[in-house]
Amino acid sequence: MDRIDLLFLGTGTSAGIPMIGCRCAVCSSTDPHDQRSRPSVLISYGRTRVLVDTTPELRLQCLRNGVEMIDAVVFTHGHADHIMGLDDVRRFNALRDGPLDIWADELTHAVLERSFGYAFAPPRPEMKIFRPHLIRRRIDGPFEIGGITWTPIPLIHGDVPVLGFRIGSLAYCTDVSQIPDNSFDLLRGLDVLVLDALQHRKHPTHFTLAEAVEAARRIGARRTLFTHIAHGLAHAATNAQLPAEMQLAYDGLRVVVDPI
Ligand SMILES: [Zn+2]
Ligand SMILES: [Zn+2]
Ligand SMILES: [Zn+2]
Repeated sequence: MDRIDLLFLGTGTSAGIPMIGCRCAVCSSTDPHDQRSRPSVLISYGRTRVLVDTTPELRLQCLRNGVEMIDAVVFTHGHADHIMGLDDVRRFNALRDGPLDIWADELTHAVLERSFGYAFAPPRPEMKIFRPHLIRRRIDGPFEIGGITWTPIPLIHGDVPVLGFRIGSLAYCTDVSQIPDNSFDLLRGLDVLVLDALQHRKHPTHFTLAEAVEAARRIGARRTLFTHIAHGLAHAATNAQLPAEMQLAYDGLRVVVDPI
């Protein structure tokens, strides 16, 4: 398999860090690692670049990180922090002069259609550059993008079923409060695991840092990087207390995934 490159476009929780109107130590930190936009990654291999989720900061994330083309979008679930930048992908339609595949399960497609009705209305050529041109691809099992298999990993996010994904020896599991036993079986032998770790305090829809560390130990990836981070976790201080193979990710972090 080709080498896989992972780029963290955003690693923050749904409100983003700093949060509007918060003056806590992390929200007012001068460490750039403490500035977290909404959670998304770009996964690249060969000539293929796949965007996972379209956050409200998609445009800025692409500009900051030099992302000038994508070949497909894959959605984890339909929450606002993961979908609200979908309109911005019309730039990629213009640059590639063609439509873009968007992969999502049934539930998430329904949310996308409700939230971006205009993007799914019958085509009008004169409106071409003003709305995204999307091809719906339904996830109901493993699927292929650019010749590589993406395996959906069923996860529980409060009371919502969401998807993580495994691509070779990489897995991306954001927005999770419980991993079903069967899904642990899909996560064996990873080089890099990306996992939700919101904060220290118990939360109904996300892993705490301690819960994330426990799940990460059970999964046993060579490296684990935490994402969807709230303002309770300062980057440098938290990482100093975590084992070297488990660290908080940060916006702009690039990781090369080794085949196992
Ligand atoms: Zn989220
Ligand atoms: Zn704060
Ligand atoms: Zn969510």
